[in-house]
Amino acid sequence: MKKLRTVKGMNDILPPESARWHRLERAFRTTMRRHGFGEARPPIVEPTALFVRSIGEATDIVEKEMYTFTDRGEKSLTLRPEGTASCARAYLQHNVQAIEPVTKWFYVGPMYRRERPAKGRYRQFYQAGAELYGDPGPYVDAEMIDMIVSFLRELGVEDVEVMVNSLGSGETRARFREALVAYLEPFADQLSADSQRRLHVNPLRVLDSKAPQDQEIAEGAPNILEYLGDEDREHFDEVRATLTALGTPFVVSPRLVRGLDYYTRTLFEIRGRGGELGAQNALCGGGRYDGMIEELGGKKTPAIGFAMGLERLLLAMPEEEDAGRVDVFVIARSPSLRREVVSVCRDLRASGLSVDADLRGGSLKSQMRRANKNAPLAIIVGEDEVERGVLQIKNLSDSSQHEATRAGAPALIRELLG
Ligand code: AMP
Repeated sequence: MKKLRTVKGMNDILPPESARWHRLERAFRTTMRRHGFGEARPPIVEPTALFVRSIGEATDIVEKEMYTFTDRGEKSLTLRPEGTASCARAYLQHNVQAIEPVTKWFYVGPMYRRERPAKGRYRQFYQAGAELYGDPGPYVDAEMIDMIVSFLRELGVEDVEVMVNSLGSGETRARFREALVAYLEPFADQLSADSQRRLHVNPLRVLDSKAPQDQEIAEGAPNILEYLGDEDREHFDEVRATLTALGTPFVVSPRLVRGLDYYTRTLFEIRGRGGELGAQNALCGGGRYDGMIEELGGKKTPAIGFAMGLERLLLAMPEEEDAGRVDVFVIARSPSLRREVVSVCRDLRASGLSVDADLRGGSLKSQMRRANKNAPLAIIVGEDEVERGVLQIKNLSDSSQHEATRAGAPALIRELLG
């Protein structure tokens, strides 16, 4: 029979690799708590219309990357391709706006996009992200960018480039769009097929097209920053000044527009330069979307958010030494002592330690081999120790031996673990 395998572009995350995921997610949750963000856990499946309306019809995601299906011949449903739309829907559905003026949510979970799989680009991938509703910025904008950079630094990902831009709002966008279309029109037949189609639907997207012919034309395009109205410019100036005051390095990139339609004003992307990242070096993308909540039927509500790809973060993070799967591995000097080993394990676990044993009745040597692979400390239970009511704890890195009473063992183990 043919072996069943994962769907193309989707990965199993298994031990010991999953331990790195835990460390990453724990660090993210700690950062979020420090900044006062609470976790939102919306469903993975949403009505298709949610993504079409918020992400935008003429985007890669909505045009060709969504996993959309009809539920029993009735409703069109989609596996979420990103988290911002779902959070916005939840924010509206539960009328959160009426409860608090400023809302700060974070999320962690799988997203689905039918992209061409490559290293760092998958069809199921995980994002950690956050959304902040109700504050028009610019201080929260700079604070969010700085928070992400600090978080990356804590993970050991220091070699990053922070790119910021402003897309302006309302009138600015309209004036820039007009100028951009006027510039692009004479080149229309030289643009890629995608860009030709977008020229009148979503011309900003031509600026971040990856097609070489589009990039060459985009080089000479008008600069959005020169079109910012007074308020937009002041907003962007203050974002930059705050980042500078915080000592967070950044570069201004006027051609940064990113793939989703909903952005207004502040936009940012953080790229990694080190680790095992290859071409897929965008670690984090985010920006302000002051129009989306209204677009989805709510009151006008300023908002800003970001999302980071966890697979890419793991590629960018330095390799760390694996501390072992458990704290202590307990060994039976003879198979007849296995009942005693089970009891020792149970008591140590009750004290909060992580403990494992090989209870199959194998030789001392084979148990030691497993201990060396799985833990920094081993306890060898023999007749003598049982009689005297003590435990012999062996430090596997320097082979030193330490004795403690059963009751005193957890404290000594903690001391040895440092
Ligand atoms: P986006 O939601 O497109 O703004 O992407 C935000 C971040 O999610 C990117 O910077 C990547 O780190 C990550 N990401 C986006 N698409 C993928 C994918 N197909 N596979 C892995 N990571 C992704």
